[in-house]
Amino acid sequence: MKTLFEKSKKGRKGYNLPSLDVPRVEPKEVVSDKYLREELNLPDLSELDVIRHFTKLSQKNYAVDTTMVPLGSCTMKYNPRINEELASMEEFTNVHPLTPQEFIQGTLRIAYELKELLKELGGFAEVCLQPAAGAHGEFLGLLLIMAYHRDRGNTNKKKILIPDSAHGTNPASAAICGFEVITVKSDEKGELDWKDFMSKLDDETAALMITNPNTLGIFERNIKEIARELHDRDALLYMDGANFNAVVGIARPGDWGVDVMHFNLHKTFSTPHGGGGPGSGPVGVSEKLKPYLPVPQVEYDGKRYYLNWKNPKSVGRLLAFHGHFGVWVRALAYILSYGREIKEVARFAVLNARYLKHLLKGVLHDPYPTSPCMHEFVLSASNLLKYRVSAMDVAKRLLDYGFYAPTVYFPLVVKEALMIEPTETENPETLKAFASAIRRIVREAKENPKLLKEAPHRTPVARIKEAEANRKPVLRFEK
Ligand SMILES: *Cc1c(COP(=O)(O)O)cnc(C)c1O
Repeated sequence: MKTLFEKSKKGRKGYNLPSLDVPRVEPKEVVSDKYLREELNLPDLSELDVIRHFTKLSQKNYAVDTTMVPLGSCTMKYNPRINEELASMEEFTNVHPLTPQEFIQGTLRIAYELKELLKELGGFAEVCLQPAAGAHGEFLGLLLIMAYHRDRGNTNKKKILIPDSAHGTNPASAAICGFEVITVKSDEKGELDWKDFMSKLDDETAALMITNPNTLGIFERNIKEIARELHDRDALLYMDGANFNAVVGIARPGDWGVDVMHFNLHKTFSTPHGGGGPGSGPVGVSEKLKPYLPVPQVEYDGKRYYLNWKNPKSVGRLLAFHGHFGVWVRALAYILSYGREIKEVARFAVLNARYLKHLLKGVLHDPYPTSPCMHEFVLSASNLLKYRVSAMDVAKRLLDYGFYAPTVYFPLVVKEALMIEPTETENPETLKAFASAIRRIVREAKENPKLLKEAPHRTPVARIKEAEANRKPVLRFEK
């Protein structure tokens, strides 16, 4: 059998390429004659026509480059262009993950410095950069919690407590790891219901998974007491860090008693993540969970950066390689460009959300009127149901006014929920324009509800079957 490297094996001037026993494939076996002879049936267009076609297509899109995307929980802030330039540098994009470490010291340094900054910002003993997204970080966090209890001989730790306002990935991750999910109620202030929490916390509780600020945009003021109660029963505190942009640079979850938290780099520290990716969900841990972290970890010995494979109790690795490096570059660039001023991100995210909530006072129903919001807030369109107008109709009509819609019907604890997150990158004029669009829509609901039921009127397609579009997407052009 011929091998691919047969010729080279004989050696050209000392090159000694490895002999791979790969069978040689002749081109004609791969490309059939039919395709070589048949002409492709493509339209005959000039470059200009093609450019116009694709530019017009892109203009039909709603994107943060053209409009505010107030998708609560998703944190669709503006992504500085410098991040893209740095992440696409050939020095990074051409590195193979198996390149010897001495040739990629700069690349390893990026990972190391990002890890160190996340440790500092989160108040953690160690950070693992591997997880590919927030939900993947939740999965790792739960594996670590499992390893911790197993190591201590806690055989009865089978329950994970999760508030009813949690993001769907929280119970899903707990279930995937084989835990029993116990739901804890929210109280009338939108915080974890203390009584319900205490009645469900027992010796079988492995951990509580909490989001802070939670998905209602409300800060869990009892977080330290919650941590204490859990630790008293040798249970752990998991924090979903998707809303970290509300506190970054101001408070550190590690100081609240959080044992493990995932960061959503693509949300808090900017990376374009519409359409489901790319993401990165590094996990920060307290001393207790450090022994179980995945390998390899990037380390620095004072002279060189290297990958450390030693961690005898490690839960193993999460990915074939090291993680989503491009997102790490963007996150590091973002953090370094703010420097000590990173707290401005949180301050402006909260200020913008509070200002917008103020502008919408009395327009839509506020389910938690006594709780000040953090970086996002949830209003209810239930006051429009009497006109047979729903949260979905409001969201669709917003598209006609040039705004992307907020998150709707989440969190589940609020009826007809509209979850609005302006982010720190919007200016007051845009917030005012958004609020006046909502005001007009509410007026239309009273005067002409049909207009809303049939909205949007200015998009290429109007109403689609949401569930079907999600479950059976048509990804190929068919004649
Ligand atoms: C976005 C989000 C997640 C999941 O993160 P991904 O990066 O999308 O996997 C989990 N929890 C909350 C509160 C979120 O907003």
